[in-house]
Amino acid sequence: MSLVDLARLIRRTGRIAEPAPAAPSEQPSAQGADGSPTASADGLPARDLPRELRGSVQVRHVDAGSCNGCEIELAAAFGPVYDAERYGARLVASPRHADAVLVTGVVTRNMAEPLRLTVEATPQPRVVLAVGDCARDCGMFRGAYGVVGAASDVVPVDLSVPGCPPAPADIVAALRQVTGR
Ligand code: SF4
Repeated sequence: MSLVDLARLIRRTGRIAEPAPAAPSEQPSAQGADGSPTASADGLPARDLPRELRGSVQVRHVDAGSCNGCEIELAAAFGPVYDAERYGARLVASPRHADAVLVTGVVTRNMAEPLRLTVEATPQPRVVLAVGDCARDCGMFRGAYGVVGAASDVVPVDLSVPGCPPAPADIVAALRQVTGR
């Protein structure tokens, strides 16, 4: 395909991203008394999210023992249709570069210590998100022999997203709680 054909295709296709819903900062229920955003996406006990992370948040993803279903939805959340980056959330490869740790999957014995170390290596202020039922409460793997627990049994969790797997739109909504955009 020539560059001209490509330009024509882009022009013909137009925007394919989902229309942006109202920003969390425009939704009264998403703010605390002092105007800071509050968790949670699903009614779990809310913690105040750091105001320093508003506008832009770098996210380190940790698969602590997922079946990979949550990863597929996470990839969609950062793909061209849901496009989490337009709200200021970006995936990074190192916890040293991150402001947030996004955990998927139940925490397995082999991943408990790496998860702890990853969160410790993420500078403060930081946010930990538990994405999917397994990360929230062990989901269908509760009680399995290789399972240590949910993400909150190993590290402090600020925000969680329910679902098995959660919809990309719900993952984006949780990230927007952090960025406020
Ligand atoms: S919540 Fe569902 S999709 Fe996600 S890791 Fe657990 S079993 Fe897989």
